[in-house]
Amino acid sequence: MFQLSTKDYIEREDKFGAHNYHPLPVVLEKGEGVYVWDVEGKRYFDFLAAYSAVNQGHCHPKIVKALTEQAGTLALTSRAYYNNILGEWEEYMSRLFGYDKMLPMNSGAEADETALKLIRKWGYKVKGIPKNKAKIVVCNGNFHGRTITIVSMSSDPDAYTHYGPYTPGFVNIPYNDTERLEEELKDPNVAGFLVEPIQAEAGVYVPEDGYLKKAAALCKKYNVLFVADEVQTGLARTGKMLACDHEGVRPDILVLGKALSGGLYPVSCVLADDEIMLTIKPGEHGSTYGGNPIAAKVAIAALEVIREEKLAENAMRLGEIFREEMKSIPSKMIETVRGKGLLNAVAIKPTEGKTAWDVCLAMKEKGLIAKPTHEHIIRFTPPLVIHEQQLMEAIGIIKKTFDEMGV
Ligand SMILES: *Cc1c(COP(=O)(O)O)cnc(C)c1O
Repeated sequence: MFQLSTKDYIEREDKFGAHNYHPLPVVLEKGEGVYVWDVEGKRYFDFLAAYSAVNQGHCHPKIVKALTEQAGTLALTSRAYYNNILGEWEEYMSRLFGYDKMLPMNSGAEADETALKLIRKWGYKVKGIPKNKAKIVVCNGNFHGRTITIVSMSSDPDAYTHYGPYTPGFVNIPYNDTERLEEELKDPNVAGFLVEPIQAEAGVYVPEDGYLKKAAALCKKYNVLFVADEVQTGLARTGKMLACDHEGVRPDILVLGKALSGGLYPVSCVLADDEIMLTIKPGEHGSTYGGNPIAAKVAIAALEVIREEKLAENAMRLGEIFREEMKSIPSKMIETVRGKGLLNAVAIKPTEGKTAWDVCLAMKEKGLIAKPTHEHIIRFTPPLVIHEQQLMEAIGIIKKTFDEMGV
């Protein structure tokens, strides 16, 4: 039978697809739990887990069941009508995370855009900022998605170059700097501070202990909304349901996405209390697919898996082991190991012409896939359903790879 090879698949994507990604040269066709298989039948540990969208493991049966059952019953109504599942999901979210209300969207970027709109609405209608003067403080190194407004607050030239003119109204400050934050918050036109509890895309930068708590307290002091983008750090990845939970911080606006569906469907949302959420009136924001019955069922199932299978506890425990083991590798290429729970990164120093990309290619040959972020940092974020024995096997592959790099 005629069979396409890895090379054929890659060439076809190259020819007919836009070149906005630089994938690892592996073509996947199947996934289950912590494993994926390529078109040649080779099995890999997936240590990217779709940028932490697949915390629950690939094709989790409970989430697949929720998806397929609902897909065959009622898939999309739009919000022009009510549906019988959305309210169930909203109530579930409200109770689980402790907010008055939820607003559903699809992608992380849309949820962040929603948060930006809420910040501005609240700034004008509640805080009383003069028309079109609202400012939002953000951090250098941020990643909040790919829309024009979102790249307008990016400090990464790859993200913003040639996409101007940019959306005004953002103030960039260094990450992990509460003194600078306080200076900016004194401006009465500042409505919100948007921050990632750990800067994952930037290279898994973990701020000092107490940073979030201090930042949230400063926001409260100056009547500014503290907004956490937990699209990647949330939903058990860092060893707690939310990364903000490590410091007992409750954001005024919470943004979730990625693992909210366990990788089965694009689902995102924003959570906030009435004072903020009800500033948006009917007709002032929305999404055709946002809050559809499939998304609602899938999200509930995805969250139940996180709780039933104690994924946060697992991430906390195995994360400690992972970092210990990485720190014990004698390679000169390893500059630093950092992270929280199972959101970890190893910073690579290019040595004797060998780079992070070479390490990733070599790991792939041995059956573990991960990808460098920003050239020299390898992010390790396996599905959180990983068992200790599987983790030790994966660590064995990583160790052997560095050993064979010979530096
Ligand atoms: C991935 C990510 C986003 C964007 O999510 P998309 O679904 O790709 O639009 C936003 N914020 C953070 C922190 C992310 O990691």
